[in-house]
Amino acid sequence: MRTQVAVIGAGPAGLLLAHLLRRGGVDAVVIETRSQEYVAARIRAGILESSSVELLESAGLGARLRAEGHEHRGIHLQMPGERHHLDFVDLAGRGVWLYGQTEVQKDLVAAGTAEVCYEVTDVALHGLETDRPAVTYVDADGVARRLDADVIAGCDGSFGPSRAAAVPRQAFERVYPYSWLGILADVAPSTDELIYAWHPDGFALHSMRSDTVSRLYLQVPNGTDPADWSDDRIWDELATRLGDGEDGWKLTPGPITDKSVLPMRSHVRTPMRHGRLFLAGDAAHIVPPTGAKGLNLAIADVALLSRALVELLRSGDPRLADSYSDDALRRVWRCTHFSWWMTTMLHASGDPFDAQLQLSQLRWVTTSTAGATGLAENYAGLPLEL
Ligand SMILES: Cc1cc2nc3c(=O)[nH]c(=O)nc-3n(C[C@H](O)[C@H](O)[C@H](O)COP(=O)(O)OP(=O)(O)OC[C@H]3O[C@@H](n4cnc5c(N)ncnc54)[C@H](O)[C@@H]3O)c2cc1C
Repeated sequence: MRTQVAVIGAGPAGLLLAHLLRRGGVDAVVIETRSQEYVAARIRAGILESSSVELLESAGLGARLRAEGHEHRGIHLQMPGERHHLDFVDLAGRGVWLYGQTEVQKDLVAAGTAEVCYEVTDVALHGLETDRPAVTYVDADGVARRLDADVIAGCDGSFGPSRAAAVPRQAFERVYPYSWLGILADVAPSTDELIYAWHPDGFALHSMRSDTVSRLYLQVPNGTDPADWSDDRIWDELATRLGDGEDGWKLTPGPITDKSVLPMRSHVRTPMRHGRLFLAGDAAHIVPPTGAKGLNLAIADVALLSRALVELLRSGDPRLADSYSDDALRRVWRCTHFSWWMTTMLHASGDPFDAQLQLSQLRWVTTSTAGATGLAENYAGLPLEL
């Protein structure tokens, strides 16, 4: 089989890239190891920056987002005894949208633009340093296949083969000494907008997926087994860290439907290209979820990459493809810094000196317009072209 762009991975990066390429008149085929149902149901990110929303709208994917998503003007930042609302719209001129990654994924599948082969195995990349790269795999019926292409797009996340095939000049990594215990609960959120809470026992976050489903997180030590956390223990700890009872605020518990532990790390590999292989999304970089940037970075990467590949493959102009890695990395590093900053400002390290610095930083962010605006600009998202 032959196509212009062989896309590996049908997560948000891969499906959106194929969608944008098709709209730009470039042919693409996506291969994915998981089933369509599995990919569609995977619970992950939930916050879209304004530039991600604009891009999805301009790609014809905004109707359900506008109808069913919720626009948030900002977030609540909390320290024991104090809760402050940061209004991003007032501070930075734009808010964010609550719309789950699963919903973005469903919209991409419903658009039906991408040709996707699900449940493939034994994916291998070939000829990356030639102008005839190829991907081999075994399809869902057990038949060995070869997909010849002009370009391969590695959108297969942090454990896929693309990352391993792209020999990095440099790889940067920071592993944090804590994880998140995340739950989904069938209960209306106890807050209108997300609450980010600093607490001496550890960070807590109250997020949501809809009017009837809450998403909450607790900082826990690395290696935590979710089975060690009963539902009652989770709700008690959330109540303590989120300040149940303070100023009359109540956390309403409900049935927990999902419980998982998410380790936290930052990782960037440069360049985001190796010959005819271009990396996008988690295949090229990972951020801890504190800044809500993972999904938004994947969207920003493919916005740049789709333009570059349309220019390369339709007009024969390689300039955007040649600058793709540098162009994308400017935003990647900004988001990597912001995610690191939010993470280290909000998580308890056990060191009393760190705790005082964190509280001082939080007081500055919540009382100074300059401090609040810096957080608002980064959280609500910077323009696609930085
Ligand atoms: C458990 C979890 C929770 C998260 N929570 C948040 C959050 O709360 N907020 C936030 O902003 N971000 C969060 N993220 C990050 C965010 O979901 C990712 O940044 C985003 O999914 C990146 O999209 P992607 O398409 O680059 O990668 P992915 O979504 O990982 O998609 C990669 C795809 O490639 C496929 N694949 C893998 N190997 C192969 C192969 N050999 N061949 C073909 N296909 C392959 C995978 O099955 C997958 O479908 C979370 C991530 C995880 C893992």
